Amino acid sequence: MDRYAMEVSGGCQCGAVRYHATQMMDNSHICHCRMCQKAVGNVFAALVAAPREAITWTRGTPARFRSSEHVDRGFCRDCGTPLFYDNTEGNRVNFTIGSLDHPELFPPGANTGQEGQVPWFTSLTTIDDGGATEDGQEAWASAIKSTNHQHPDHDTDRWPPTSAE
Ligand SMILES: [Zn+2]
Ligand SMILES: [Zn+2]
Repeated sequence: MDRYAMEVSGGCQCGAVRYHATQMMDNSHICHCRMCQKAVGNVFAALVAAPREAITWTRGTPARFRSSEHVDRGFCRDCGTPLFYDNTEGNRVNFTIGSLDHPELFPPGANTGQEGQVPWFTSLTTIDDGGATEDGQEAWASAIKSTNHQHPDHDTDRWPPTSAE
């Protein structure tokens, strides 16, 4: 597994927890195991690691649940966003790709934990295409936008913004 220099940031939905990494590992993958399914509340976890010493928690402190002897699952205690898989004996932390500010930059290169893979995983790309939220639901999309409490996909000096901003 190789590491490479890259400035990466991410965090939870509410913005209480933010992280930054200056290096990443080339291990982007999808884990289908039953423990990852539960930890992220989804049918698989998409994960990519950063070396432990390259990580800075720039806002807040993640909560941890010890899912097995050496493994912590990290999440925001305020909003619940799953943030990482951390083998505490190891030298890297695997972040949930969806919590990164730019998940599109980390295409998975492997499937793991396939004993837990849902049988319909391989047909996901063949099901009906529902289009973007904006398509045909303009009122709903604008209601979401005007009341959106999600932290933006970049670092902020202060969050949530004050009413003057
Ligand atoms: Zn949060
Ligand atoms: Zn797993």
